[in-house]
Formats: sequence, structure tokens, C-alpha cells
Amino acid sequence: MLGNPVGDGVRVAVVGSGISGMSAALQLERAGYEVDVIERDDRLGGRFGVATLGDRPVMMGGKNIGRRYTAFRSWLDSLGTYAWESFGINTSVMKEDEVLTLDSTRRGRSLASIRRMATPRDLVRLAAMTARIRADESNKFLGSKYFTELSRTHDHEPLSAHFSEKIVKSLLRPMTVRMNGAEPDDVYLGTFGTNLALLLDHYDQLVDSIQPALDAFSRRVNVRLDTTVEGLLVRGGRLAGLRLAEHGKDAEDAEYAGVVVAVPAYSAADIVRDELPGLSKRLSEVRYNPSSVMLVEYDRPVFSSQVRALAIHDDGPCSNAGSYGMNDRHIVRYTFSGRGARNTELSPEQLETWVADAERRLTRYMSVSRARPIRSVGRIWPAAYSAYLPYHGEFLSDVEHAVRGLPGLELSGDYLWGVSIEACTRAGNAAAARLDAELSQHAPVRS
Ligand SMILES: Cc1cc2nc3c(=O)[nH]c(=O)nc-3n(C[C@H](O)[C@H](O)[C@H](O)COP(=O)(O)OP(=O)(O)OC[C@H]3O[C@@H](n4cnc5c(N)ncnc54)[C@H](O)[C@@H]3O)c2cc1C
Repeated sequence: MLGNPVGDGVRVAVVGSGISGMSAALQLERAGYEVDVIERDDRLGGRFGVATLGDRPVMMGGKNIGRRYTAFRSWLDSLGTYAWESFGINTSVMKEDEVLTLDSTRRGRSLASIRRMATPRDLVRLAAMTARIRADESNKFLGSKYFTELSRTHDHEPLSAHFSEKIVKSLLRPMTVRMNGAEPDDVYLGTFGTNLALLLDHYDQLVDSIQPALDAFSRRVNVRLDTTVEGLLVRGGRLAGLRLAEHGKDAEDAEYAGVVVAVPAYSAADIVRDELPGLSKRLSEVRYNPSSVMLVEYDRPVFSSQVRALAIHDDGPCSNAGSYGMNDRHIVRYTFSGRGARNTELSPEQLETWVADAERRLTRYMSVSRARPIRSVGRIWPAAYSAYLPYHGEFLSDVEHAVRGLPGLELSGDYLWGVSIEACTRAGNAAAARLDAELSQHAPVRS
């Protein structure tokens, strides 16, 4: 909860209905603000990517929730009670003729697998960084003191330059492709804590998807769908509102005392361009990578209970094929990301071709050849994941400085704390707290 709410009658807006925006909106609503969430899409949730496979609600975007996602779980608890099922981390890496498995429910076996992938120098480096993350939670997120220091001495070269080829291929690549759609030679050590934190958690997923929580959210907070924010209104050196276009009509001005812009960096760059061109330029430097996801339901299980997902590093477009859930080994989620899935004209037909190709390659490892597909659903994400920047800590300081120049404006999003759902929730909570503190200073004195 926010510390010093000014509450009633103060109208604020949150731009974007992903978790970076919904977390900010709920905080502000609880503090008594009148909140509008403004979303250009025709549905809530952003990159949760809610869809259906037959009658079943599924998520085509972020769905795995760590046990340490405390901020997100508390956001969810404030909306209702939802059923969870364990997902674990289960990723197997094909290494020559063997399959090495990382499984968060079998730590001993996973450590043995990592030892076989790494040189002694890799192990020392990974152990040092892991110890820092365990000792100080801030190291899981972007901009921590430790990783910002590391970036100063190491970000002149990409992540891949700091580890052996062996571990880059078999462990680091699956992590960076999965989280950032990036190859280890296009991300940096200064943001690597966010990737490493992924391995130190155990994951669950929502049995009925996030949709029931989105429904509860929209009963609580006013949501304006199909509405695009085009720019900021500024008066007397303060943010005074937004220029927005509803349902494809001409843009109109809407007055707000404060705004949290909770969209990806490239969209935020467009929104602030006229009023804060320097900030806009800096935001447009943040890199994003595409990813496409296809869920295919087969008439029988495709994976075994030991190997539920395969990370693939053969330069092809399919980076990962995994069962949708621990008990859904007949539904395969194919993810197409990394270098092999870029620079391609993406279409539903292209996805079908990639799935057929992935099925052929994977027959050795999973029993897909006997399985008959029943139904499928696909989603193309042209800018799925942020891959951040080198020297990201400095970028964050520049952004913070520029935003301070326009009271009433706050930013949230995947490029501030990290791309994980937990990091986005924390970015939203922090933005709401800053906005509340700023508005409290300017609020009329109340008896
Ligand atoms: C395929 C995939 C799988 C993932 N898997 C996981 C996972 O298992 N676990 C995990 O922790 N994370 C995962 N992630 C990452 C995580 O889901 C995302 O980083 C997170 O959901 C992003 O939330 P956000 O609110 O920052 O952005 P978004 O969810 O993108 O929300 C931003 C919203 O702003 C809207 N918008 C943009 N511009 C405007 C504008 N001008 N006017 C109005 N509205 C606008 C957009 O339409 C969008 O709805 C995954 C991501 C993807 C793509």
C-alpha cells in the first residue's frame, strides 16, 4: 500500500494494461485515486497473451510464475483466489548424443548437468554471481549496484565473451533466448542477473489462465480499451493529461493529474517524443526481439515425465519445444525465437511450416511421430522481449533524471526492472508509489 495517499477525486491514468500497468493501477486505486487504464488493444493483459485452445483458456505469452514472485502473487491475491499447478523449470539441452536435463524439482541432477556443461572458470564465475543474487534480492533485477559495477568493466564485450563456448551454447543461450529472444552475443553481463535468477526459482502456472484475474481487475478499475495514447499534455511545467484517440476517432485531450506510462520502451518513446525528445531518443535505444508461439494439442502425450521441454540450439527458428504443463504432456508449446527466427516475414503459414519442421527434428527425442495433432493456436509477437542495453545501469539513471524534469509523469515497463512478470509488477508498484508521493506534495491541504 502507498504511504501517504491524497486519494479522493484525483484523476490519474495508467497507459498500458500489461502487468507493468495493472500493478500500478491497482496500487493507485487502493490509495483512493480515480484511475483510468488506457489500452490500445481490444483486450486486457498485454503480453500475458490470453487465448483459447478449443474451449480451454491458455496463455500465449508470459505464464510461468516463480515461487519467489512475491509482488505478482500479492497483486493476484488482492483480486481473488486462483488455482495453481506446478510447472517447475524443466529444460533439457541436447548435447551431442545425450540429453542434459535441468529440473527445479531435482536440484542434484541439475547441478550435475551444469557441471558437465561448464569449465572450472565458468563454474567459479557463475557461483560468485549466484551467491550475490542469493544474498541480495536486488541483484535479480536491472540496475542493481553489483551488476551495474560489473557492467562498467565488462559491457564493452557481450556476455558470450566472458564464458567458455561450451557453457554459452548449452546453458546461457537457452536462458537468454528464452528470456530476451537474444543470443549470448547480443546481451551483456550487466543484465545477466535477471537471467541467472530464472534458474533459482521454481515455477507454477494458473490452472484457468490469468483471465479470471483480468475480469476481476476490470470490475475494480476503469479500463478504456481500443484507445491509443498519442502524446502528453503539459501545462506550466507539469503533466496535465494525455492526447488520446478512442476507437480510431480523432485524438482528443483528456485531463489527468498524473500518469504512469507502462508500455514497452519503443512505445513510451513515441508517447513522450514531442515534450521530452531527449528521453524519447534514449528510450528508443532499448532493443526488443521477436518471438512466435504455437500451441499444438496432440491425441497422446509427446513428452515423458522426465523430459518435458527441449532447448534447441541448431540455428533453426525453433528455440524451445515444451509441454504446456506438467500434466499436459500432449500439448506442446513451440517457441520460435533467437537469431534463426528473426528477419523473416512472419505469418500463420510460416508458423505451420516451422512446427512441421520442428516435429521432424524432434522425433529423436520425443514421441511426436506417432502423435496426431488435433488443434492448434498461434501468436506472433514482433517485439516479444526486451533485450535491454549494454551499460543498462547508466541508461536507467538517464531515464530517471529525464522523468524528474516533468512532474506528474512516471514510467513503468519491462526495461526498468527486467522482463519477468515479477520485475514488471515491481516496476509498476514503484511507479505508483513515486506518483503518489509526488501528487501528495502538490495536493491541497485537507482538514
Ligand atoms: C512469449 C512470451 C513468453 C513469456 N514467458 C514468461 C514467463 O513464463 N514468465 C515470466 O515471468 N515472463 C514471461 N514473459 C515476459 C512477460 O510476460 C512480459 O515481459 C510482461 O508480461 C510484459 O508486461 P508489460 O506490462 O511490461 O508489457 P505488455 O504486457 O506488453 O503491456 C503493455 C501494454 O501497453 C499497450 N500499449 C502500448 N502502447 C500503447 C499506447 N500508445 N496507448 C495505449 N496502450 C498502449 C499494449 O497494447 C500492451 O497491452 C514472456 C513474454 C513472452 C512474449
